[in-house]
Formats: sequence, C-alpha cells, structure tokens
Amino acid sequence: MREKIFVTKSSIPDISDYIKEIKSIFDSRWLTNMGTKHNELQDELKKYLGVRNIALTVNGHMAIEMALQVLGQKYNWVKNKSEIITTPFTFISTTHAIVRNNFIPRFADINDKTGCITAGAIEPLINKNTVAIMPVHVYGNVCNMKEIKNLADKYNLKIIYDASHTFGEKIDGKGVGSFGDVSTLSFHATKVFNTIEGGAVCFNDDTLDKKFYAIKNFGIKFQDPDTIESVGGNAKMNEFSAAMGLCNLREIDKNISLRSVVVMRYRQNLEDLKKVKILTCVADEYYKTISQNIKRNYAYMPVIFESSETRTRVMEALAHDDIFSRKYFYPLTSEAKSYEKYLWFGNDKTPIAKKISRVVLALPLYPDLPLRDVDRICKIIRGVCE
Ligand SMILES: *Cc1c(COP(=O)(O)O)cnc(C)c1O
Repeated sequence: MREKIFVTKSSIPDISDYIKEIKSIFDSRWLTNMGTKHNELQDELKKYLGVRNIALTVNGHMAIEMALQVLGQKYNWVKNKSEIITTPFTFISTTHAIVRNNFIPRFADINDKTGCITAGAIEPLINKNTVAIMPVHVYGNVCNMKEIKNLADKYNLKIIYDASHTFGEKIDGKGVGSFGDVSTLSFHATKVFNTIEGGAVCFNDDTLDKKFYAIKNFGIKFQDPDTIESVGGNAKMNEFSAAMGLCNLREIDKNISLRSVVVMRYRQNLEDLKKVKILTCVADEYYKTISQNIKRNYAYMPVIFESSETRTRVMEALAHDDIFSRKYFYPLTSEAKSYEKYLWFGNDKTPIAKKISRVVLALPLYPDLPLRDVDRICKIIRGVCE
C-alpha cells in the first residue's frame, strides 16, 4: 500500500543527535524555567533571525497574547474598548488572542497577490479607539511594512506582526522579526522550524525584555523572586523543546533549500495551467515592487482555483489517492462560529479575503517530499482542471 501524504510532515533531527542534546538535561535534572538549553537556543535564534531581542515561549499563540498584554499595559489600552486592526485571513489564533484579551478586532481586507492586509484597507478603519495594527505575514509573504509603518506613525499606533509563517526570512538583509513593535513566531511541529510546541516574541525596545520575562513566568520579576510585578501566566519553553530547537536549527538551511526545490517542481508542473494560480509566483511579482533582496522560507504551497467547486473536486481527487491538502485559510476568522454572539461580528467588509478563502488550497510541502510525489499530485490536479 502506498503511504499517505499529509499536507506537512514535521522536521525532526536524527534521533542520536537528539539523545546527545538531551543528555545534559538528564544529568542536571533541570527540566524547565529558563535552563541552559532555553538560554542557548535564545542566543542562537537571536543571531540566526537577526533580531535585537527575543523571548522564547511555550507556543506561538501565547507569544501573541503576551505581546498584547505587555504593550497593553505599557500603553494603557482599555479592555472592551480598544480596537486592533487585523486580518480575517489567518489562522484562528491571531483573532482569538485579541478577543481573549478583551480587545476588539476590526478586519481589514487583503492584497490578492500576497494574502496580507494593506495600508489602504487599514486606514478607513482607524478611529479614536484604535490602538494597534496586527497584520500577518501570510504564507511567509511579507506585508508592505513600509506603508504600514507610515500609517502607524501617522496615527500613533503600535504594530504587532504575527510572523508565525516567516521563520528565517530576511528583507534587504534584515530579519523579518525585527520589524514592528513586536513580531511573534510559532515553532509548532507543523512549521518550518519547530521545537515540538514553541514560539517567541521579537522586539527592538530593550525595556520590554524584563516585562516579557516576567509575564511568561507568573509575573515574577527578573532576578527578584519576592516581587510579583505583573499578573503573568505561564508560557515558558521547557528544556526538551529547546533541545529539539537546537537540533532542528542545525538543519534549517538545508531544509529551507530542500523546500525550495519542491516548490520549484510544483511551479514547473502547474505554471501553464490557466485555471490554477500559484500564490507564491504571484507574490514574486509583488516582491519586485518591494525589494529585490528577499530571503524566503518556502513555508507553504498555496494555490488558487477558479472556483470553490474546482477546489472541492481537487481535494477529493487527491484524497482518493491518500493525499491530503488543506483549506488554509477557511473559513475567515471573522466567520468563526465562536464569534456569532459578538456585537462586532461581521461588521467589516473584506470581499477579497472572502473570495480567496473559498478557492485557496495548501498542497503538501515538506523538505523530504519526493519529487515523484509532487509530479503525481500535479497530474491529479491537471486531471481535474484541464
Ligand atoms: C501557527 C500559527 C499560530 C499559532 O502558533 P502555535 O505555535 O500553534 O500556538 C498563530 N498564527 C499563525 C498565523 C499561525 O500560523
């Protein structure tokens, strides 16, 4: 029987490398609470990502929540009143983080070439209650950060980038995580780089460093255990996750280049198909207007079909061969059932996001996906679309 192909497959190190890495944890019996592996990974990531400050977290979702809590406290955002302009075309985590912290999400529409919200769509939503913008670099396509920064400066707003999809990406030599007031990363098992579960906040303001340290550890002040300075939770990364990260980081450049080979194969196979648009190709056209110097990470393989029916037929044809794709992202977060009871539900109009969520499909992509399987997937797609 042929093996099932899932939309992704977690990157893992050689088991002997991992055992070597965790040996010292067994010796020291220091399992969590900012141990040696945690600190080592933090230093290595700072260098690799090209960011000024970084704080590791238990997952990417808590990184977003912590960013909202730390900035909210610092700038006196008001619960149940302050508004944050964000995208509905994202993983539900982004919107949940805003709502769980009692801020109000407002949804801006996206650029159909990148999947990211645009300054033009953000500006009309700004009012006296707006405190921040929370864009997402969708599929690793970076937002037009210059335009968003200009807007934030004009209206005195903070920017939190959900940079979960951009691990390792650079723009003109600068780490993507170094933009905005805070950028958050996810190191979930399914992401380009994983620590099993994990994440981080990256930021330039040095005074936030101790605040993030405290908020992920019950609000206990840095190097002063008798002082509880904030109402923190628990979002620390444990030593076994950090050890996984140290091992995976050694393979990351190799893995990203293997991903690029898979993506290029998809492109070769699908580029001439009129009824299929490859979103990463389209984004390349957009990038030419932003910068020529981009280091990409090939995180996802999203394709756009001419109709939602075609998408369904492709999904079914693939599933028939035990190949599993994903409607990523569908539904829009603003359409989530969990939000039906909220007054702001459906307030904002985002027709482009709505349209793309109906026709986009993420195809299987991971570093060791065999090219003959890519060919097989593309043949099935051609069979449906030709
Ligand atoms: C994965 C992801 C998250 C959540 O990260 P976790 O590490 O799974 O908690 C948030 N936002 C986006 C865009 C993501 O893709």
